[in-house]
Amino acid sequence: IGLKRMGMKKLENKVIVITGAAMGLGLAAAQEAAKQGAQLSLVDYNEKALGEAKQAVLQEYPDAKVITVTADVSKEEEVRKYVDETVKAFNRIDGFYNNAGIEGKQALMTEYDVAVFRKVIDINLMGVFYGMRYIIPIMQKQQYGRIVNVASVGGIRGVLNQTPYVASKHAVSGMTKNAALEFGRYGVITNAIAPGAILTPMVAEAFRQVNPDDPKAAETEYAKANPTKRLGLPEEVAKVVIFLLSEDASYVNGQTIAIDGGESNTY
Ligand code: NAD
Repeated sequence: IGLKRMGMKKLENKVIVITGAAMGLGLAAAQEAAKQGAQLSLVDYNEKALGEAKQAVLQEYPDAKVITVTADVSKEEEVRKYVDETVKAFNRIDGFYNNAGIEGKQALMTEYDVAVFRKVIDINLMGVFYGMRYIIPIMQKQQYGRIVNVASVGGIRGVLNQTPYVASKHAVSGMTKNAALEFGRYGVITNAIAPGAILTPMVAEAFRQVNPDDPKAAETEYAKANPTKRLGLPEEVAKVVIFLLSEDASYVNGQTIAIDGGESNTY
């Protein structure tokens, strides 16, 4: 029994929707979910990268069932499209990794470009809301569901020069609490993660903005403040996400879980 248990996959036959799946945290979670037996609906607005992501998953896990839907999560009708196409393909949605997000530009609040501010809110806040708005009713009917929203340590504290990002990520944490209290009674469990600096294309771009001449120096400087003295890896986030998307996460609800090497304890 012990060996059999060890071999059990954590998401066997579960249908999992992942937004922002083309790269970074979304792609790492797609790989780990496929490894754990999930059937995947991968969503992104970067069609080309999304196609490549699907191929990358199938290359490692040829038996995985994977569909892709090109959609912009900040557009309500495109969110309905990815939800409808997923249900058409798989008949249910067991898990939702509500991950797509952008950072915006770095600037003080008083100099922040208003159009960029709105764009960050449209994607990070409205996109996360639309996803829950249309997926929770399906989970409610099933009397089962797991939602993992992606906040950030910027959803727990302030981050210099990133007002809309911080505003949107605090909102993600707040909406997570509300979904948890409104739908927990239907077996729909909702949590958020708050990654620290994880080495993805998004963070690489942030280091380029901080130090255009030597982004690696910016990264090294940043890592000094972390108890582990390093940045996190997408795979390390994916392992926590898989737990929160699994049946095992049945009594953790409405939490925002920091995945940051302990850095939030040093603030
Ligand atoms: P990334 O830029 O590497 O990947 C994000 C993916 O989301 C891309 O494939 C992009 O095309 C897609 N995307 C962006 N806007 C979209 C939209 N409107 N519709 C559909 N797809 C869209 O970023 P990442 O680092 O993997 O970040 C993923 C999530 O994690 C984001 O919500 C981000 O805020 C959050 N986060 C990341 C870190 C980190 O250190 N990398 C830390 C905290 C939080």
